[in-house]
Formats: sequence, C-alpha cells, structure tokens
Amino acid sequence: MTERRLLLATTNQGKVREIKKLLRGLGLRIESLKDYPEYGSFEETGNTFEENSRGKSLFYSQKYPGLVLAEDSGLEVEALGGKPGVYSARFSGPGATDEKNIKRLLSLLVDVPENQRKARFVCVATLSQGGKVLKIFKGKVQGVIIREPRGANGFGYDPVFFYPPLKKTFAQLRASEKNLVSHRGQALRKVRKFLEEYLRKNFIQAARPRKNKSRQKRVNSC
Ligand code: IMP
Repeated sequence: MTERRLLLATTNQGKVREIKKLLRGLGLRIESLKDYPEYGSFEETGNTFEENSRGKSLFYSQKYPGLVLAEDSGLEVEALGGKPGVYSARFSGPGATDEKNIKRLLSLLVDVPENQRKARFVCVATLSQGGKVLKIFKGKVQGVIIREPRGANGFGYDPVFFYPPLKKTFAQLRASEKNLVSHRGQALRKVRKFLEEYLRKNFIQAARPRKNKSRQKRVNSC
C-alpha cells in the first residue's frame, strides 16, 4: 500500500510554500528535505530540467519510504538564447542570491529593446516511489523581463518577470494568483490529478485481497 506521505525534494522554502498549497487536501503528509538533512544533497549536473528533475527524484526515492516529488525549474530568456535555464539558481556564480541573479540578468539585458525581452518560466516535476519514476509533469508560462524589480512577493526572478495578461510581475501577485497561472501551478495541478487517481487505486488494491479472502472463507464454509 502507498504510504500516505510525500517528500518534496527541495529546501527552497518559496517552492515548498507554493507546492504545499497546490497539494493540500489529498490526505498526504507533506515533508521537505529540511526534515531529512541526513539524506544529503543531489548535485544538479544535468543539461536539461528533465534530467535534473528525474535524477533528483530517483536519488531521494531510494531513501524515502513514500512518494517523492522533485522539480527543476528556471527562467529561459529569448534574447539570451534560453539562459539562464538550468543555471537559474546559480546565475551570478558562487554565493548567488536572488538579488544578485536579478542584477546579472538586468545588466545582460540593458541594451535589449522592449519588444525583444520575452522570457518563460519552465517547470518539470517528477514523481517517484521505491526508486522508480511514476510520471513526469511539465508546465510553462510566458512573460517579459522588465528593467526594474517590482513587487515583494514570491522568490527568485519574480520581481522582474512581468506577466502581460494580468499586467503585473509575479512578485506583485498573491501566492494563490501566481499558482493559477505559473509554470509550477500548471505542472502541480497535473501532479494533483494523477495523485488523486493513484492514491485511490492503491488503496482499493490494498483493500481487495482482504475482501476476497473473507468471501473465499464464506464460500469454503458453505
Ligand atoms: P532549482 O532549485 O534548481 O529548481 O532552481 C530554480 C531557480 O529558478 C530558482 O532558484 C529561481 O531562481 C528560478 N525560478 C524557478 N521558479 C521560479 C519562480 O516561480 N519564480 C521565480 N524564480 C523562479
């Protein structure tokens, strides 16, 4: 039977907050790597979000006795040929912070005109159990990189990621508003749908043998 617990393979508290909201009400105990420092860290050396997401999920799934959800996400800027991409978190080099990453991004785009500042956030989430991948889920959202940070919510590049349909940066949205449209929100809604079915099936399968046994007993005793 599936253990009703799920490990979010991240220590990023911004992501943990968003993902917990999106998976609320499934009857799963949701934990994060903060609860398991003894598991160590997975080095993200992949060239794609999928490689990192998959590798991270399998790494922790070999240690954790429940479901593991790992996601890799980042920003792809058209004028920079898709950078920072898988290097989003460490774009400004060793000791990178959100502020330093934004500063580097804005300085690289300083001469890029408004109509060429398109970017997208991408999220690839991998759900695993017992060292095996159950499924991979993806989401993406298009926006524009503005010249000055705006807003105080969210994390990462949110203050410079302007989302035209709502005429706000992601850092000007409440978490619930961001989740409705974000790359992570899209991928996690697919995860949620999958889990609803997966947990239901696994619990039914676990209950069946007992039912059959007692019916068998009754038949035998007739
Ligand atoms: P990861 O922990 O390697 O997946 O790092 C992803 C990095 O991409 C984060 O540290 C942020 O810099 C950036 N990123 C991913 N998702 C978001 C988001 O929703 N808002 C802002 N930045 C994001």
